[in-house]
Amino acid sequence: MSELRSRPPADGWRGDARAVVLITFDFDAEAPILAEGEHYAEDLSTMSHQAYGPKIGVPRILDLLARHEVEATFFVPGVTAERWPGPVEKILEAGHEVALHGHSHRRLPRLSQDEQVADLELGLGALARLGVSPKGYRAPYWQLTQTTLDALPQHGIRYDSSLMDDDRPYRIAISEREIAELPVHWSLDDWEQYAFLPDPDIGQRIENPRDVAEIWKGELDAMRQTGSLCVLTCHPFLSGRPSRMRAIEDFVNFAKECGDVRFSRADRLSEIVLQDMEEGD
Ligand code: ZN
Repeated sequence: MSELRSRPPADGWRGDARAVVLITFDFDAEAPILAEGEHYAEDLSTMSHQAYGPKIGVPRILDLLARHEVEATFFVPGVTAERWPGPVEKILEAGHEVALHGHSHRRLPRLSQDEQVADLELGLGALARLGVSPKGYRAPYWQLTQTTLDALPQHGIRYDSSLMDDDRPYRIAISEREIAELPVHWSLDDWEQYAFLPDPDIGQRIENPRDVAEIWKGELDAMRQTGSLCVLTCHPFLSGRPSRMRAIEDFVNFAKECGDVRFSRADRLSEIVLQDMEEGD
C-alpha cells in the first residue's frame, strides 16, 4: 500500500473511548452468487440460501440493533437494492446507514477500468432510486483497486472500508481531496466463519458461533490496549441464523460491558477523521 498517499489517523478520533466499534453488514443477498454465474438464477436452493438474508436475517438484525440501541452501517450492492428495496427501506427507517457495496458484486481486479467505473455508477444509481446518496464504499470481497478508489470522491463518497494495512482510521489523498479509510480484517468477518456455498472459491465452512464470538471479543479486548478501530463485518444471509445472532449479541454485550468502547456509524466516524484534517491537523 506504499503507493497510497496515506496519512496517519487524526488525533482524537476515539474521543474518550479506548476503542471504537463499527457494526457493519454486507447486505449481499443473491448478488455474489449471480456474479459467479447466471446459471445460479435457476438454482432455487442456492438462491433461497441467499434470500434468507433479506427475508429473515435483516428483520432479525434490525430487532437486535433496536434492543441494544446501536446504530449500524449496511453496505448494499446495487443489485440487492433493486431486488430487495423493501428491506433497504426498513434499514433506513430504523436510522441505520446505507452505504455502497458496488453494483454487481463482481471482483474489481478482474474488471477493466471502464467496467469498474460503470459498475460504480450503476450501484450509485440503484441506491439513488431509494433516495440514498451513500457516503461510504466497500469493495466486493474487500478487493479494492486504484481505479475504483480514484473514482470515489467525485461521487460524493467520503470514506472507504476495504483495506487492511492499519487497525486505525487513516486518510488517503486522491487528487486534491482526501477520503477516510476505515480498515477491515478477516478476523472480524463472519464470511471466513460461516460461508458455505456451492462454489468452493467462495467459501465452504461452518464454525461454531460460540467460538466465533470468542474470536471477536478477543480482538476487541486487545484493541482496547492498542486504541484501535474494531470493524465487525457480518452478512445477513450468514449471521441471521439463530445461533449466529447470539454470537453478534454476545459481542455487543461484551463491548458494552467494557465501559470504555464507543459504537459508531461508519459515516459519522469518517466525518470526525476528515474534520480533523480540514481543521489543519
Ligand atoms: Zn459482499
